[in-house]
Amino acid sequence: MSVNIIDQCVAQGVPFAREYGGLLSNRSFGGTQVQRTFYAAGQTGQQLLIGAYQALERQVALGNVKMYSRHEMLEVVKIDGKARGIIARDLVSGNLEKHFGHAVLLCTGGYGNVFYLSTNAMGSNVTAAWKAHRQGALFSNPCFTQIHPTCIPVSGDHQSKLTLMSESLRNDGRIWVPKNLNETRKAVDIPEEERDYYLERRYPAFGNLVPRDVASRAAKERCDAGYGVGTSKQAVYLDYAAAILRYGKIEAGKQGLENVSQEAIIAMGKEVVKEKYGNLFDMYAKITGEDPYEVPMRIYPAVHYTMGGLWVDYELQTTVPGLYALGEANFSDHGANRLGASALMQGLADGYFVIPYTIGNYLADEIYSKGVDTNHPAFEEAEKAVRERIEKLMSIKGTQTVESFHKRLGKIIWDKCGMARNSEGLKQAIAEVQALKKEFWSDVRIPGEINEMNPELDKANRVADFIELGELMCIDALNRNESCGGHFREEYQTEDGEALRDDENFMYVASWEFKGEHNWELHKEELKYEVIKPSQRNYK
Ligand SMILES: Cc1cc2nc3c(=O)[nH]c(=O)nc-3n(C[C@H](O)[C@H](O)[C@H](O)COP(=O)(O)OP(=O)(O)OC[C@H]3O[C@@H](n4cnc5c(N)ncnc54)[C@H](O)[C@@H]3O)c2cc1C
Repeated sequence: MSVNIIDQCVAQGVPFAREYGGLLSNRSFGGTQVQRTFYAAGQTGQQLLIGAYQALERQVALGNVKMYSRHEMLEVVKIDGKARGIIARDLVSGNLEKHFGHAVLLCTGGYGNVFYLSTNAMGSNVTAAWKAHRQGALFSNPCFTQIHPTCIPVSGDHQSKLTLMSESLRNDGRIWVPKNLNETRKAVDIPEEERDYYLERRYPAFGNLVPRDVASRAAKERCDAGYGVGTSKQAVYLDYAAAILRYGKIEAGKQGLENVSQEAIIAMGKEVVKEKYGNLFDMYAKITGEDPYEVPMRIYPAVHYTMGGLWVDYELQTTVPGLYALGEANFSDHGANRLGASALMQGLADGYFVIPYTIGNYLADEIYSKGVDTNHPAFEEAEKAVRERIEKLMSIKGTQTVESFHKRLGKIIWDKCGMARNSEGLKQAIAEVQALKKEFWSDVRIPGEINEMNPELDKANRVADFIELGELMCIDALNRNESCGGHFREEYQTEDGEALRDDENFMYVASWEFKGEHNWELHKEELKYEVIKPSQRNYK
């Protein structure tokens, strides 16, 4: 299917990198030892987005698609057990709208912002998926979060967002920390023999290209042990000095130059690196004020992707008939871990190559029915529920901002359900999130009015859902007494600190059914492997 996806994207104008002869080029990515990842410089995701977006805009211009920008879906409308529409809020006027559909497709992304700080866009949230969940759609593996190892570290309390440095940087960059505790010298002054290239040391077979979960945990382990760098000591170096020299020498060789000075080699090497990663280096320099061509970058893991989401079948239908979930909003494809470059591939596959074929199976039996009038009692009831919730939020008039609640939630989830979890911490987190929910609903303060543009109100709606999701994430993490992929339970690790799976007892998808306040029922879907045999991962 990847071939079809590439063809589709190229037709939409995505400039995939090519070899001299015109064939598509590949490069390495974390978790693989061969070059097999298609790419467009250091901005594959952005280019795919632009390609898809302009194709969509074309359909909008042709009148085939009606676009509602600045609208937020706040409820699923169910009639006779089937999804028949949504309630949306116009985020500019504050008006509620009722929309009918023979089926409803949620393509509303992941929920990484439950952690407050993540690489996700600020507007990413769980609300749509959460409303579906409360309406009966099962939510699967909510504790499976991907923490990306190459992000710009947290620099203080003022931040509301983290920035990803592309994984492609691990192709050529070397990751290290000082060998000495309490090292105070600048990176460039630390001699080679006093550097710990810990990924190359621990995982000689994959080195800096181990998968994201492994690289993230290894960075955490070094920082927790006191070897972190920078003022916060919560960072490791990503160093391009060796790559610059290597590329400079290759360049000199290509040009047939002899007796080239070190400076000239470095200058040529920098040009090659600039060609490959220039946009990323510029971004780093703008954010940190440091020149990564001269000093190593400082990086630290950050929340990036959520493998959990709404349970769907092979047709992408949730457990609510007529309600579909596509892309990061669903739980499918990645299991407990996701390798780089596969999120957009899943999204594109779901949207271009799965749903166009599967939704017909549902619509074939439904399309005969005329549209339901949005004055139908089910629409009225759903709209009333949304209105009442908004009024309740606005009426609290407490003392604390929405942001402060989000920040506190993020800290609980990051500390106790983040890169490493344990039973004690998770139990504490569940109690803390429950208490936070109570406090939120009695002391949040939302300025402004309902019927106007009110981003604080929009955010309050989302944070209220994140709090409920946070509780479920901890419950799921507590239930899974093993380590696997993005879920690392400290009690379940090998002697050398690697994740220890328990396939005998946990080879299942954990799907949760909402049963009311603080109450979920677990449904286990056994994983049956017919062709491949699962084995313990080993990157050594
Ligand atoms: C910085 C960064 C770089 C990445 N790079 C790559 C990469 O190179 N390759 C790769 O494969 N993956 C990459 N990923 C992951 C990938 O981009 C995401 O997994 C993917 O974009 C998810 O697509 P989606 O369409 O499912 O959701 P999204 O792209 O998140 O889109 C969801 C949309 O739904 C809207 N929405 C949410 N809730 C509602 C609601 N209630 N009502 C109305 N609208 C709503 C959101 O505003 C958003 O526009 C990257 C992610 C990040 C954050």
